[in-house]
Amino acid sequence: MMSPHTASGSPVDVARQRMDVDIVCIGFGPATAGFLTTLAKNLLNPDGTPAVESTAMPGAPPQILCYERADDLGFGVSGVVTRARGLRATFPHLDPKQIPMVAPVTEEKVVYLLDPIGASCRSWILRAADACIRAFSGLLPFEHDALELPWSPAFLHKKDGLVLSMGQFMQWVGAQVQSTGTVQIWPGTPVSQALLEDHKVVGVRLLDQGVDKQGKPGDGFMPGMDIHAALTVIGDGPVGPIGQQLDAHFGLPAGHHGRDWAVGMKFVVDLPEGSPLKPGTVLHTFGFPEPEIFGFFYVHPDRIASLGIFVPSWFDSPMRTTYRYLQHWMLHPYLWRYLKGGKLRSWGAKTLGESGRRGEPHLVGDGYARIGEGSGSTNVLTGSGVDEAWTTGTQLAESVLDLLKARKPFTRQNLEETYVKRRRASWVEAEARIAEKSRDGFQQGVVRGMIGMALAGMTNGRFALGGEPVPPYQRIPTLEDYYRGRIPAAEIQQLRKECTIKGVSLHGALMHRVGWPAIPYDGQLLVSHQDALLLGGKVQAPPGYANHVVFLYPELCEKCGTKICIELCSGQAITPGQAGVPAFDREKCVHCGACYWNCAQPIPGNPERMNIAFRAGTGGLHSAEN
Ligand SMILES: Cc1cc2nc3c(=O)[nH]c(=O)nc-3n(C[C@H](O)[C@H](O)[C@H](O)COP(=O)(O)OP(=O)(O)OC[C@H]3O[C@@H](n4cnc5c(N)ncnc54)[C@H](O)[C@@H]3O)c2cc1C
Ligand code: SF4
Ligand code: SF4
Repeated sequence: MMSPHTASGSPVDVARQRMDVDIVCIGFGPATAGFLTTLAKNLLNPDGTPAVESTAMPGAPPQILCYERADDLGFGVSGVVTRARGLRATFPHLDPKQIPMVAPVTEEKVVYLLDPIGASCRSWILRAADACIRAFSGLLPFEHDALELPWSPAFLHKKDGLVLSMGQFMQWVGAQVQSTGTVQIWPGTPVSQALLEDHKVVGVRLLDQGVDKQGKPGDGFMPGMDIHAALTVIGDGPVGPIGQQLDAHFGLPAGHHGRDWAVGMKFVVDLPEGSPLKPGTVLHTFGFPEPEIFGFFYVHPDRIASLGIFVPSWFDSPMRTTYRYLQHWMLHPYLWRYLKGGKLRSWGAKTLGESGRRGEPHLVGDGYARIGEGSGSTNVLTGSGVDEAWTTGTQLAESVLDLLKARKPFTRQNLEETYVKRRRASWVEAEARIAEKSRDGFQQGVVRGMIGMALAGMTNGRFALGGEPVPPYQRIPTLEDYYRGRIPAAEIQQLRKECTIKGVSLHGALMHRVGWPAIPYDGQLLVSHQDALLLGGKVQAPPGYANHVVFLYPELCEKCGTKICIELCSGQAITPGQAGVPAFDREKCVHCGACYWNCAQPIPGNPERMNIAFRAGTGGLHSAEN
């Protein structure tokens, strides 16, 4: 019988320090930022006396702590363009000039990119459509192998919105929140688990330090402290370990699942001098490098742009390499004319939870509440997550203030009657319901998906095209099946052997074999994956912590032919290892979380969980531009 690899679990029998506070928050993303901003503003009266009182420290305002795993606030990858309804409700006098890299949206375009190389995997319908577009190109807004759609649907519009760097915005918000003196935010401090007593969350445990990569205590061992709190706020994003722990403990509401995901990879670049693109320009692309891959290109002030691609769960390819595809996307003639001569400033990747309303967990329970993307707030129809996450945070803050003023405890019932009630009555919920089934059509192909999305958007969700989302292992074909008719199985086997000996992933060799040209590295904008990791020391991992990526059942890896975890890894942190079990190098991990949902094997006894554990960990990107 198989037994799971349990490395990096905290030792249970060590003495731990304990601290008691009123509220503890996990993660400082847009959701928690919205929560803390709204709360912090209302904790003191104008004369400085507490407006509401702490139970942990009577006479004082509530003691509120927030722990963020990244090494500083705003490190990591996040959204760029937002209608900013939630942000503006919190900051009605927001002056974009106060925050670096913010520009009001000025122009929006949706662009269909044709394949100028002939290497992408297109259905016959798309090939026929491409041929028609090329034949009538003189009559259409067609240039540089791309069709600019004459009209873009209202549901996609970010009119009156902002292009921003969430990294810069989060640093600005973090400074504001901390200057109130009522909230403490601790970066570089991962939370390893929620503390559960029966079915009540009573606080959190911080990650152990001074352990080896397997989690075994070594010299300088410091057990993570236990923080007891009346309310634990979980805003740890789509692949957060505490969200995962609670989902495993409480299960998901009937009919809910979190099977739709995407990995988003982003470059922040200096555009070449003389760039014609105005700040506030927003371009959405689809069609290339593969039809399933969406792209984005947003322009900040000072000739800086954020651009990248999303690789979704319904991309039926075992070659889900986001980094390589992103470079091919940038080289598309429609985009390259803007990028040639540019320079890479920063990059990174992150998972998006795209199940939306259908992935919603139990939002509250005794002692806890969930906010942001991990609570199913991201809207896949409008392509918006920041505003929704922020707004769920503000809704929780208003509810917490109500309960504190009424001196009511944070029970499931009280949180249902305040936070959940507010959320259900808000635009976040109304729009989530419209979006709920809007992308199901993609389960059966891109064309069906686009039609389904348009239908749902234009009928306010009344109609959509069906298709049941399934876990990745049920849809990712083997390499042999995917390349059938293009590369003989024996040749795949030979290439696999050669790459394993070299310790590299297979996608380079296979993509080359089916016609993708080599990337013309220029050392400025187009750099190798390894160079991107080293660029400006931007990916780092402090020693003394256990590995946060763990292959649970090595025997499953041994017989796994696809090894998609190696192909997709955003940081080349997962490579071929001994006896068929991949190796993980924490120093290269950008904490995107893509391996957690992309594994090709479910674990015994739980068809919704894959063979990779993604636990709390330190390090990752060192850039606040993303
Ligand atoms: C490439 C990309 C582009 C995007 N573009 C857009 C866009 O243009 N517009 C838009 O609206 N949305 C966009 N999104 C989506 C948007 O970024 C998310 O919806 C949003 O960030 C969700 O906010 P959140 O606070 O819920 O979670 P997150 O932003 O994921 O924040 C969670 C935080 O918790 C921390 N954390 C996790 N685990 C722990 C732990 N154990 N201990 C302590 N801290 C922990 C994380 O480090 C992180 O800082 C994009 C996403 C990506 C990846
Ligand atoms: S982690 Fe998953 S995808 Fe990677 S080798 Fe193991 S079973 Fe295969
Ligand atoms: S190992 Fe790290 S960089 Fe690689 S996919 Fe997993 S989380 Fe992303």
